[in-house]
Amino acid sequence: MLRKNRLFTPGPTPLLPAAQTAMASFTAHHRTADFRALFQRVLADMKEFIGTQNDVLVLACSGTGVMEAAVSNLTSPGDKVLVLTAGKFGERWTALAKAFGCKVEVLAAAYGETFSLDDIHLKLTPDVRAVFVQATESSTGARHDVQGIAKVVRTRGDDTLLVVDAITGLGTTYFDLDGWGVDVIIGGSQKALMIPPGLAYCAVSERAWQRMETTTSPRFYFDLRKERKSAAKGESAYTPATSLFAALGAALEFVRGMGQGDLAKGREVLVNNAELCAEMTRAGAQALGLKLFASSPAAALTAICSPNGIDSGKIVKEFRDSFDAVVANGQGEMKGQLFRIAHIGYYDYLDTIGILGALEHVLARSTGKAVEYGAAVRAAQEVYARLPHKRQLVGA
Ligand SMILES: *Cc1c(COP(=O)(O)O)cnc(C)c1O
Repeated sequence: MLRKNRLFTPGPTPLLPAAQTAMASFTAHHRTADFRALFQRVLADMKEFIGTQNDVLVLACSGTGVMEAAVSNLTSPGDKVLVLTAGKFGERWTALAKAFGCKVEVLAAAYGETFSLDDIHLKLTPDVRAVFVQATESSTGARHDVQGIAKVVRTRGDDTLLVVDAITGLGTTYFDLDGWGVDVIIGGSQKALMIPPGLAYCAVSERAWQRMETTTSPRFYFDLRKERKSAAKGESAYTPATSLFAALGAALEFVRGMGQGDLAKGREVLVNNAELCAEMTRAGAQALGLKLFASSPAAALTAICSPNGIDSGKIVKEFRDSFDAVVANGQGEMKGQLFRIAHIGYYDYLDTIGILGALEHVLARSTGKAVEYGAAVRAAQEVYARLPHKRQLVGA
């Protein structure tokens, strides 16, 4: 059969056609009125997409670049920081904070699990200058309780900053960032924004800007204060990724269209869409007797345990060979144990039903056991049918 190549990976995610066209035709120089207008419009729209009044910066780098910027701008060597980690991306916070000379206190939960707020409370001694966490841990599919964590951190007043890697969380998860008191939230272009890798962004609270006045870690390209000054004039400090800005502008227009002209509402529709795709996928996998890897699964992606004795690499390969569908294997120690199907951004009902139909064949072929065809699809259909209020899917 003809096979269409489709990404079901938690980044990069499928590209929005309108964004690809916008990107391909964009030629403006970055120090021109045309680009300045686009740049300013995108930054204003990004505030609405993120759902914050705080200043937003968009930089040319992958998500890890802005994670590094958060560490280098908000800490000084020797600062005590608390990293909440339950997966490969949490471990990245630890490595980054160590690279900048922080004294790193780690609160670790097992892969697939999340943290107890009481444990965070105990670890949060008065000398902790910043707390680093993921909103959704893409390596395990777990959702962390950002609201609960923020509540604990805010009991410390202005002394402790909360930095959230929401690179797969933004656009898939409900947040009230300003209301909860999150200081820095970080996202990346190749996730829910439906455009290629190459841009990463953050929103920064007043408390965090103040912290930057006194911190001494080295920074140059990722000096957020310098970027903020340039952004106020409608420019970036260095050459921006101009064509990606054009793509981002088109993607934000698309989200606005999903909200019938209201970008904040469009973001909600996008989040609902991810929630529904995720719920359908969880139901489908479980109907085939498969176990979910995360105890509190995110809407961003579904991590599914490989059946006993089967290397998940075999499942990943079977998806690719039979259907040209790219799903993700486990990362690091989790490689071979699980596979991950994403719902971030540009996915719809048909994608979800399709990948579950494919999963039935993939499972039969890679285990050699009989599969009840239609079981996963039926379970997903029932989820869809039960949720009429969530039926507003992404319309291109
Ligand atoms: C994708 C992702 C990142 C960023 O990775 P880059 O490869 O640097 O873009 C960071 N954290 C999470 C949770 C992610 O999903």
